[in-house]
Amino acid sequence: MKCPYCGHEEQKVLDSRPARESTSIRRRRECDSCGRRFTTFEEPEKPRLYVIKSDGGRQLFDREKLLSSMLLACGKRPVPVERLEQSVAHIERDLLDQFELEVQSSDIGERAMEELYHIDTIGYIRYSSVYRAFDCPEQFAEIVKKMQRDSRAKSKATVSSR
Ligand SMILES: [Zn+2]
Repeated sequence: MKCPYCGHEEQKVLDSRPARESTSIRRRRECDSCGRRFTTFEEPEKPRLYVIKSDGGRQLFDREKLLSSMLLACGKRPVPVERLEQSVAHIERDLLDQFELEVQSSDIGERAMEELYHIDTIGYIRYSSVYRAFDCPEQFAEIVKKMQRDSRAKSKATVSSR
């Protein structure tokens, strides 16, 4: 690191301690060349993830946006917002673990469907129908059949009553 006074790149570190409520490390340095002292702060790079949309556009991952899409799918359903917030947090953690800088929007959509699948049947169907944008009844019927087969569907709402 360059000394802010003379530009020399070597210093002694005199002191190192946690700072800003332990979100960073503060180091007191002394320049080997001019002998002046200065302070640096080191902190982890904030995790960022760009979402690549189906049209090729990119935007920063936005957990609020994901949450609102899931809330919309669960509109008027007995699903606590808190439960969806947990899901979004879970998805975000998973994405940051698995992807370094970019993720396809489809990877997010699949995870959101996976979460909703275990939370609310109707919310899952609504989300899937919007997300997959399927327009033929066969695809819809397929998903319903899959759900009827799968005993893990915990929601009390029965698809057949629709
Ligand atoms: Zn210096």
